This record gives sequence, structure tokens and C-alpha cells, in this order.
Amino acid sequence: MKSKLPNLSTSIFSQMTGLANRYQAINLSQGFPEFDAPELLKKQLAHYSEQGCNQYAPSSGVAELQAQIAALIERKYEHVVDPASSITVTSGATEALFVAIQAITQVGDEVIIFDPAYDSYKPAIELAGGKAVHITLRSPNFRIDWQQVNLAINEKTRAIIINTPHNPTAKIMTAQDVAMLKALLVKHDLLLISDEVYEHITFDGHIHFSALKDKDIFSRSFIISSFGKTFHCTGWKMGYCVAPHDLAEEFRKVHQYVTFSSFTPAQLALADMLKEQSAHLDELADFYQQKRNILVNALKGSRFEVLTSEGTYFLLLDYSAISDLNDIAFCEYLVKEVGVAAIPLSVFYDSPPEDRIIRLCFAKHTETLINAAHKLCEL
Ligand code: PMP
Ligand code: GLN
Repeated sequence: MKSKLPNLSTSIFSQMTGLANRYQAINLSQGFPEFDAPELLKKQLAHYSEQGCNQYAPSSGVAELQAQIAALIERKYEHVVDPASSITVTSGATEALFVAIQAITQVGDEVIIFDPAYDSYKPAIELAGGKAVHITLRSPNFRIDWQQVNLAINEKTRAIIINTPHNPTAKIMTAQDVAMLKALLVKHDLLLISDEVYEHITFDGHIHFSALKDKDIFSRSFIISSFGKTFHCTGWKMGYCVAPHDLAEEFRKVHQYVTFSSFTPAQLALADMLKEQSAHLDELADFYQQKRNILVNALKGSRFEVLTSEGTYFLLLDYSAISDLNDIAFCEYLVKEVGVAAIPLSVFYDSPPEDRIIRLCFAKHTETLINAAHKLCEL
């Protein structure tokens, strides 16, 4: 059979977690929290299932959850959205990204993405018959050259995908970035897919820009978030997309034939969680900033150069002073010989630069972070 995605193999996250398990290494590779989901969330999940809420939810989501998401958006971004027509609950941010891309990409369309880019964007664009146009960001600051973006836009360009706070670089878009982005979207009449799954995880006073904050940007945007990151439940695969009515309508046409609807008891449990324990979200940034500091401090005696993490639960390390291996070989060495699993940065690029950088996930218990750092300090 002729492959539709001939250049793809198993995702790096599955590969590295597989290796971490095989070699019993400390797994700081795939991004997922080591902590359990909040008690209330687990209790309510069981409760609603026992109450018999086990059949299909409405395709766009359970009304209670849509309402709670709208309340959160109003509280955090001072933006009032109509929950029924703008918010669609999805099976993780991955589904939302896939659906948004399918909904807007015609055969031959170009979609601009910034490398290093989260791994699901490009295959989703290609499955829609589109072409991913890569803008490469350079270490250590990974800042966007908007002049370069402007030059990459032509009559085939349909959309730009941004991700802030950014996986894997842990950088946050600045107010200046947002102004440049807005100018380009308006000038060239483009759509925006804004991947904001780490919206609650920002450090050192960095302010998260949400496309929900600006009416002109929102009018042409799909804003995507994930409950997995915020409530330590990545295995539930629950997320959502917020869009203006006309775009939400197109999104829903695709969503109804990808999954139709998402897990009903989880939707009801998440609605209760948002209603009763919204403080969890307000405390998340401090919680992860402490984790980041623990790891950064524990690595102080090492030969790694630590790059600044402004948000997300990731940290980049430059190992140029330690080894000449390329980053994939270095990660294999780390997992097999040192006992720590990490992700090589090059896999997030179409044309990888010659950097020697790896990504660590610090959504782990203090003991895990200290043990991993201890091993890394010996290199
Ligand atoms: N976008 C980014 C940038 C991510 O890091 C992730 C997951 N790590 C996702 C999307 C997918 O989120 P979900 O697990 O909810 O599908
Ligand atoms: N997004 C997570 C990461 O960056 C992994 C998600 C996945 O395993 N597909 O590590």
C-alpha cells in the first residue's frame, strides 16, 4: 500500500518512554505529570459513571462543561464567549488540532508552523492535502523573525499555527510578537490556530498571551487547550476548542465525524472541578515554577548549560561541553548508560540545526528530579 505519511515512524514520545521502561531509567522524556489527578476529579468521574451518565454526550460537549469553560475564559481573559456556539469539547488537544486543521485546509493550501514544532501539526496538515511551511527558530532564544514570516506568506497561505507557552522551547510570546502576528493576520487575511495547552503554566511574571484577549485576533482564530496539562490527567485525553461562531460551525462539521463526542463522565467531572476548585488553576504556575527551580538548582554543579524556561513543564539543556554525539545518539546513551530518559530537540525540526540540546520534563516529584539531576551531574 502507498503510505499517506511515508516519512513518519513511531512518535519520539512513545519511543523514549518505551526505552525508559526497558532500561528502568528515570523518565523525563514524554511530557506527563508524575502526580495523580485531584481527588475531586477522580471521585466525580466514578460518581457520574455510577449514576448512569454513560451514553453519548452532545457532539459539541456537555452544557455544564461548556459553561464552566466560558466562565474560566471570562475570569482569566475578560472575554465573554457564548458557550453553546463557540466552545467544542474534544478528546484532547490533539483531536482539536487535527479537526481545526482539517476544517480549514484545502488541497494545496500552505500552513505556517514554527520549528521546533509539536509533532502533530505537520502530519495533520499533510493529511488534509496541505503543505507545512517551516519557519526555523534558533537557540538559545528561539525568537520569531516576523520579517521572515511575512516573506513566507503567499496567495496559498491559509493559516499560522502558534504555540505559547511553547513546547519544546519553554518560551512565551511577547506583546511585540502578538502585535506583529496580528498585523500579518489582518494584512494577509489569514486564520490562526493557537495551541495554548500550557496557558496556566507561566513563570517569573511572564504573561501568557491568549488569542482570546484580542477581539480582532479572536475573530479569525481557533484557540485550543487541554485538561490533561492543567489537572494532571493526560490519560483522560480531554480538551477543547474555542472559536467564533462561523469557525466553530466548520470545526464541528469535522469533529462530529472524527469522534462525534467525548467521554461523558469526564466532561461532567471536569465541570465540577472547574466550578468547585478553580484555585487549582491559579496555583499551577507557582507549583511548576518550584519544580523548575528544584531541577535548575540541582543541575548547577553539572556541565550542562541550562536554557531559560519561561513556562510549560519543560527545560532545555545544552550538552555541548559534555559530548560530540548528535542529540538522538546522546539521548540513547543517557537512557541506556546514565539512567535518565530525555527527548532530543532535533526531532521537532524539519531541517534540524547542529545544536546539541535535549528536553527534560520536570512535572515530577522532587525526589525524582533530584535523583535524575544527580545522575546528570556525574557527566
Ligand atoms: N499541543 C502541545 C504543545 C502539547 O505539548 C500537547 C501534549 N503534550 C498537545 C498539544 C496535546 O494535548 P492532549 O494530550 O490534550 O491531546
Ligand atoms: N505532548 C507530550 C510531550 O511533549 C507528549 C504527548 C504524546 O505522547 N503524544 O512530551
